[in-house]
Amino acid sequence: MAENGTRHCDVLVVGSGAGGLATAIVARKAGLEVLVVEKEPVFGGTTAYSGGILWIPGNHLAKARGIEDSREAARTYMRGEAGNHFDEARVEAFLENGPRMLEFFERETEVKFALADYPDYHPDRNGGVAIGRSVSALPYDARRLGPEMRRLRKPLETITFLGMMFNSAIADFIAIEGS
Ligand SMILES: Cc1cc2nc3c(=O)[nH]c(=O)nc-3n(C[C@H](O)[C@H](O)[C@H](O)COP(=O)(O)OP(=O)(O)OC[C@H]3O[C@@H](n4cnc5c(N)ncnc54)[C@H](O)[C@@H]3O)c2cc1C
Repeated sequence: MAENGTRHCDVLVVGSGAGGLATAIVARKAGLEVLVVEKEPVFGGTTAYSGGILWIPGNHLAKARGIEDSREAARTYMRGEAGNHFDEARVEAFLENGPRMLEFFERETEVKFALADYPDYHPDRNGGVAIGRSVSALPYDARRLGPEMRRLRKPLETITFLGMMFNSAIADFIAIEGS
């Protein structure tokens, strides 16, 4: 911090949801000085309320399980789902970088993912699949956040099960069953 109270950084991230914090982590890993600002007293944004399912066609977890899929199929599915809102450049960026993002976070952070055994919303439509594109983060012991844990937005009570997000409870169960 400078003497007059001004803070300097290479990257200023506004908001501490998945988008903001993922940006912050990537920038920090690239050696940049990052500052995250959050308007709420807790961090996590809408992301902290979410079910935590990521829809990432072409992910390495599906490949490791031998599930057949292709970028063309995913593109076809997205074209059908998005209709007039289909944006080719954005879709290509998503299909190219989504799988890379998952691998980056598994490699560079403590986050681990597992395939969620969910179908696409419309698996019977062109390019749709019954399994392989939905991924969930495995449970993480939030006590490792130390005092920061108190500043993490709590999940919505209405969608928790035994005090955990419903998907986390399922992922936990799968992890225990698989061990
Ligand atoms: C109940 C529920 C379940 C969901 N389940 C899923 C799911 O399973 N899978 C899925 O893909 N999506 C799901 N979603 C949607 C998903 O949660 C959101 O699309 C995603 O979290 C958005 O992330 P974000 O980083 O863009 O925004 P957010 O997580 O909302 O983060 C934005 C942050 O910016 C802060 N902010 C805003 N303006 C300012 C400002 N001017 N200055 C400082 N800070 C600011 C906000 O306070 C907030 O913390 C779900 C949503 C809900 C509500």
